[in-house]
This record gives sequence, C-alpha cells and structure tokens, in this order.
Amino acid sequence: MAFAGTWTIRVAGDNCRWCDHCRPDETDFGIRVFSGQVSDTYFARRAFVRGYVVVVWRGRHVVEPMDLTVGEAGQFHHETMLVARALRDCFRPAKMNYLTMGNSEPHLHTHVTARYPGDPGDGGPLPATEPPLLDEIQWRRDAAAVRALL
Ligand SMILES: [Zn+2]
Repeated sequence: MAFAGTWTIRVAGDNCRWCDHCRPDETDFGIRVFSGQVSDTYFARRAFVRGYVVVVWRGRHVVEPMDLTVGEAGQFHHETMLVARALRDCFRPAKMNYLTMGNSEPHLHTHVTARYPGDPGDGGPLPATEPPLLDEIQWRRDAAAVRALL
C-alpha cells in the first residue's frame, strides 16, 4: 500500500531521495546523460528495452507537474522532449512512451522509453515488474551514445 504509512510525509518532501542525493553522475538507478536547467536524466541500469531513461525534476521538491509554474512546466517538457529525441535518434524505435506516475517515488519524474516490435509489452504498456539488469558494457556504451546527442 504505497499511499499509506509515511506517504504524506514523503509527499511533503521529507527524506526524498531525489532531493537529497545532490545530482550525482551515477546512482544505483542509472547514469546521468543530461543535465538541463530544471532536470537531470538518468539512463537506467535495468530495462526491458534499449533506451529507457528517467527525467527527474530539479529545484524545489515537487510531486505533481500541475504544481509547476507555466514556465517551469514548459522547460521541463522541453528538456524531456530533447531527451526523447536523442533516444529516438540513437535507437530508432517504433514508438516512444512517456510516463509520469510517482506512485512509489513522490518526486516529479517522467519515464521515457523506446518501444519496439516484439518487446515485452508489444501493443500495450511494459510489465510493471522489475526489469532485468542490462549488460554493463552495453549499458555504458548506450548511455554514452545518448549523452553524445544531448
Ligand atoms: Zn523531492
């Protein structure tokens, strides 16, 4: 039950790992491939497909995109689209997906995922289970290729 227990405190920003970890180049989740004016993008270590990143809002603690100013929202969307374009140019997928939930991590972030024919969610969403760990060498190579486009 994600919305029980400490949820209200976490929504308020207490112990928010995205606010607290000070924009590192690499985390357990992934490696940073882009730093914008209002976001950082991490290329995920675990993924069902090649080309999965999370664009994380930077600034004050924000949970919902509707709580951004018009200017902030525009910049966040702009930076998300820059990253999406780089993923498309790098991996040539059939489709790009954008997902802003925050149901387990209440800090604004958007998942941007390349999608391919025959991928584990072909025609629908990818599975909600934990994705497999990517090959370390290929993961770092892919991250570098995306970073080079940004
Ligand atoms: Zn936060």
